[in-house]
Amino acid sequence: MKLIFEKSVKGRDGYSLPKDLFEDIDIKDCVPSYAIAEGKKELCEVSEVDVIRHFTKLSKFNYGIDDGIYPLGSCTMKYNPRINEKLASLDSFSCAHPLAPEETVQGSLQIMYELGNLLAEITGVAQYTMAPAAGAHGELTGILIMRNYFIDRNESRHKVLVPDSGHGTNPASAIMGGFELVETRSNEDGTVDIQQLAELMDEDTVGFMLTNPNTVGLYDPKIDEIQRIVHAKGGLLYYDGANLNASFGLFRPGDSGFDIVHLNLHKTFSTPHGGGGPGAGVIGVKEHLIPYLPTPIVTFEDNKYHLSDVGPKSIGKIRAFWSNFTVLLKSYAWILSMGADGLSEVTRASVINANYVLAKLKKYYRPAYDGYCGHECTLTGRDYKEYGIKTLDIAKRLMDYGVHPPTIYFPHFEPYAEETLMVEPPESESKETIDAFIDAMIKIAAEAKTDPDLLLTAPHNTRIKRADDVLAVKRPILHYDDELKIKDELGYTEADIDF
Ligand SMILES: *Cc1c(COP(=O)(O)O)cnc(C)c1O
Repeated sequence: MKLIFEKSVKGRDGYSLPKDLFEDIDIKDCVPSYAIAEGKKELCEVSEVDVIRHFTKLSKFNYGIDDGIYPLGSCTMKYNPRINEKLASLDSFSCAHPLAPEETVQGSLQIMYELGNLLAEITGVAQYTMAPAAGAHGELTGILIMRNYFIDRNESRHKVLVPDSGHGTNPASAIMGGFELVETRSNEDGTVDIQQLAELMDEDTVGFMLTNPNTVGLYDPKIDEIQRIVHAKGGLLYYDGANLNASFGLFRPGDSGFDIVHLNLHKTFSTPHGGGGPGAGVIGVKEHLIPYLPTPIVTFEDNKYHLSDVGPKSIGKIRAFWSNFTVLLKSYAWILSMGADGLSEVTRASVINANYVLAKLKKYYRPAYDGYCGHECTLTGRDYKEYGIKTLDIAKRLMDYGVHPPTIYFPHFEPYAEETLMVEPPESESKETIDAFIDAMIKIAAEAKTDPDLLLTAPHNTRIKRADDVLAVKRPILHYDDELKIKDELGYTEADIDF
């Protein structure tokens, strides 16, 4: 497809103004000199309809949650109600200046305060900070809180335990926080090996980070034992609750002894995830960790809301201003509109959806472990290897059925590492939509045996056909001419490139 600059025609305008409008005005009188470009800049000259068509066309090359099911495991790609976007765009919120005096932004502060209280109630902890801008950022905040807590107690602990089934950001955050990482392995059934945890947990260890459900979509049934082991050695227990749609309304991490919880508001709480948009990886802590929270937190005193300093033990500031306030606002609106029953229903629906997919597809895509799952299930394409088919080919073929492929080749630990497909059919998908996905998967399973070439060369119905895995990442094609230039290298014919 051509760039909009290449569609430019000299003298073509997208607007018209009365000719004499600028007659008596010298631009230099109106605009500061630093803002006036020197020399003529090349701008594209196109009409209004050219602009509309150009960008509408581009938008159609995309696949998003508004097009269809997006069962990307570990990402919670669900539909989020538009009403919450509308609220977040209200001028009184979106135009509030982050440095505005407290008394002029009481409403915004109240929302952050009340959201903190709602989340504390949902997860069973004492206090939230709204500062972290992403899940990984929340984890790092949690790790730094752990660090300050032990420094304050004059204990020099230098290790963090993370199971191999934890989300990849967990070990990364532990290392970013300056700790040595110790990985615990999973049992056959994909959950924490308690015996090994007990051997590794010692008084040099700040604590244990648990992703629950873990990255294979399984709830850990031994949380009570994990809690006892970690706390017996004075450690802290960290809950990665990025996928809270697997548990909220039914289970509160705080009640099971977790000291720190992080939530991805941009997954579960009504902010679309993906595409590089703003996020909020808020974290909540138990009473004993409040002094270490990042500063400031919103407090309510003398009938007013304040942005208050946390105190000398705080880990300091980790994000400017109010962090991603509109994400907080959407979460607040969503929680209130769902109500307690609605939130439990979300968990039930997402867990039932995932187990439904698992039950229907396990015959065709044999899972590494046979049992119930949480809000997502892991399947495998390993039975098709004998036909020369990899999970990658199955994912590519799904695109021909108009479905965004699930996460593949994740997680990485044995026995899950082989040809994995990780499917998350979130609560917003109807039975009909999920059935259509299941049907497509079953058809592909049959094609893998009868017509493997169809899979090996898929996708056939999409704009870009089978791209080279490595080159497609290293040499993104941003221009039609580039596409033409390297079409042979990429195995395209010119007809494949629709512009
Ligand atoms: C997505 C996810 C994260 C990381 O969140 P980001 O916002 O992408 O940094 C951490 N843990 C789990 C379990 C996740 O699913």
